[in-house]
Amino acid sequence: MEFKINPVPPGERRSKPGDETKLGFGRTYSDHMFTMKWTADGGWSDATVGRYGALALEPSALVLHYGQTIFEGLKAYRNPHGSINLFRPRANAARFNRSAARLDLPQLDEQVFMQGIEALLELDHEWIPRSRGTSLYIRPTMIATEPYIGLKSASQVLFFIITGPVGAYYPEGFNPIRITVCEKYSRAGPGGLGSAKTAANYAASLVAEKEAIKAGYTQVLWLDAASRKYVEEVGSMNILFKIAGKVITPPAGETILAGITKDSALQLLKSWNVPVEEYRITIDELLAAHADGTLEEAFGAGTAAVISPVGQLEYKGATYEVADGQTGPLARKVFEALMAIQYGEQPDPFGWIHEVVPAQMAQRAAPVAVAAAKS
Ligand SMILES: *Cc1c(COP(=O)(O)O)cnc(C)c1O
Repeated sequence: MEFKINPVPPGERRSKPGDETKLGFGRTYSDHMFTMKWTADGGWSDATVGRYGALALEPSALVLHYGQTIFEGLKAYRNPHGSINLFRPRANAARFNRSAARLDLPQLDEQVFMQGIEALLELDHEWIPRSRGTSLYIRPTMIATEPYIGLKSASQVLFFIITGPVGAYYPEGFNPIRITVCEKYSRAGPGGLGSAKTAANYAASLVAEKEAIKAGYTQVLWLDAASRKYVEEVGSMNILFKIAGKVITPPAGETILAGITKDSALQLLKSWNVPVEEYRITIDELLAAHADGTLEEAFGAGTAAVISPVGQLEYKGATYEVADGQTGPLARKVFEALMAIQYGEQPDPFGWIHEVVPAQMAQRAAPVAVAAAKS
């Protein structure tokens, strides 16, 4: 596919955040965005990298009324060789298409997903912050733009990718989170949208999260909607437990998002010969393990935090300390190992890293090779 590249003139580019320790998450965006249109009759067209800015949408656009939209989240990291690492981006592309299928949105060529990200990095690589733990967050999104307020699947769609620098998730070291079991609300039901990264799931979680925070907790531990017995996810992360030396995690499926971070953690654990079991663990089994002292650790896994250790769990008015309220050694080991691969500090035996070398970086890194290629 041909991309139109409309770079923002250098004099009109926005200033980058100065203090990388104050970056936070999701408030700053880089100069460019990628957009591409789809119509039921014409397919995909108008792939463009241009200035980041407001979208023109009619108020009747289907997405605003019926939530026909999906997204992805991944990060670009600077590696020590002076180029850029993406972590398993094809897995994001594949999941994006699975989400699209569930929301009756069009499929997107995985190659175009990758090329869109790479074209953005070509222009905006200077937006990738430099300190360890920081990165450029990448948000591919698809929305139903057709102006029509009758309920139907859109025949006009917009795909876009925006990026923005994000800070280290744990600037002062690992902070274990306090979580509360949610018994009032559900995140995803059988046959629902739980396996898709789509807006409605997060809209459904907002009140629950607000109430949890008001009660003094960091996040919600979601149980299954049908029986409120099985543990599913924590906030918008997957959850893992270490019980009697074994790592146990509920399998991804209809109501549990297939997280790439968790999948990577499981592959690492298996490579270390840590026993791993994926099955639907009940809250009762978890509390029984706490009671007999075999619940050793609990941690969330997701792109934003990488690993989020759980220090305390609340259920039906009682609180349970996990790993003495500290970060467990296994959570820390997984966190460090994933970060080291993402930042290119350690070899990647799994083939997870997709290296991107913008032209400007290639010239800086290898002037000899470039000169040789020209002659
Ligand atoms: C994105 C997300 C995750 C984590 O997925 P990663 O691929 O590891 O970032 C887990 N649960 C939910 C509900 C999510 O939206």
